[in-house]
Amino acid sequence: PAGDAVPPAGAKGAPAFDPAVLRRDFPILQRTVHGRPLAYLDSAATSQKPAAVIDALAAFYRESNANVHRGIHTLAEEATAAYEGARARTAAFLGACEDEIVFTRGTTEALNMVAWGWAFHHLQPGDTILVTLMEHHSNLVPWQQVAARGGFQLRAVPLTPDGRLDTEAFTRLLEAHRPRVVALAHMSNVLGTINPVPELARQARAAGAVVVVDGAQSVPHLPVDVGSLGADFLAFSAHKMLGPTGLGVLYGRRERLAEMEPLLGGGGMIRRVEVDRSTWADPPQRFEAGTPPIAEAAAFTAALDYLQRLGLEAVAAHERELVRYAWERLQQVPGLVLYGPGPEHRGGVLSFTLEGVHPHDLAQVLDGEGVAIRAGHHCTQPLHRHLGVVATARASFYIYNDRDDVDRLVDGIEKARRLLA
Ligand code: PLP
Repeated sequence: PAGDAVPPAGAKGAPAFDPAVLRRDFPILQRTVHGRPLAYLDSAATSQKPAAVIDALAAFYRESNANVHRGIHTLAEEATAAYEGARARTAAFLGACEDEIVFTRGTTEALNMVAWGWAFHHLQPGDTILVTLMEHHSNLVPWQQVAARGGFQLRAVPLTPDGRLDTEAFTRLLEAHRPRVVALAHMSNVLGTINPVPELARQARAAGAVVVVDGAQSVPHLPVDVGSLGADFLAFSAHKMLGPTGLGVLYGRRERLAEMEPLLGGGGMIRRVEVDRSTWADPPQRFEAGTPPIAEAAAFTAALDYLQRLGLEAVAAHERELVRYAWERLQQVPGLVLYGPGPEHRGGVLSFTLEGVHPHDLAQVLDGEGVAIRAGHHCTQPLHRHLGVVATARASFYIYNDRDDVDRLVDGIEKARRLLA
């Protein structure tokens, strides 16, 4: 293999943990697929869960299940402590305050909340919302919807030929259109590009914009501190970072959340209710109508504990090393085209096409080998149109992946090439 340029394990910057040892914590990674050990390379879609998270979910239902906030009995108090404990844990993970953490159903819901709850009420007709060409549909469609309803303009920052954000164009668009909202991904779920958010957010806020960051692919993989990030809002999903589905986080600066209207009305989000009108509770409760995902929040605490034990610096270093190795090996496959910037500007996501083979067929051949990758537009149709392809194949890494998974990916691609190209 062509991995000679990659520093060996134990070298400076190498991971502080052994993926082969971590894999023992993940029950699903013990199973086989089509008689082969599972090589799971689809963590950008959703990560696998360690036993500690699965056990925490079950333990909540077995031992403490009750609704939160409203009951004066032991179980209700335990449930409330688990739920509010998860909020405190999430705040500490991000360097935020507890009242700046809103639990949602996921990144998508969090971004819709900001679009409708903040932007719709604060922008004037003709105001600009600036997004980028690499956005996931969940950081694009909600902005289109509010723009259509409110008469706002939507513009997208273009990309450089190697798949990074064109930062000069970004500056020009800021100056020319004075956007009221800048909404961008911290890390692309297709190109792997890590955008320089602290610098972009500084510029955007200085130009008078509110900055909304889609952290679905960054918060699970990189150290993210909201103080140094400099955004007004940050959205991400628990299920992509060892946690359960059905739970996401919206971080919002205290003053921004105070200005935001609730998207959903109901129990738990009010201060006083009359028959014909109501007043709202303070954030974050204002944005958490109805029974929240309590068991999921309890399990998320276990996920954050697990990640923090490894250290996000070590997680990022591990993925950087793996991406460098994969990049070198994949570049040597004849007819394979890799999208996005080189390893120095990206995280652990690699999208590619293989000449003469549809990405779906490629994924199917790999599945037969026990290698799980994703194929399609990955909820980024405008980006794929820009790349000039209808679909790509995508391999994505996390803490439990190692070079052996990359070798099996490359072997599977070679097999598909022999069979189909
Ligand atoms: N944004 C990005 C960059 C993503 O990769 C994803 C997940 O696929 C999302 C948003 C949406 O996340 P969710 O489906 O958990 O709401």
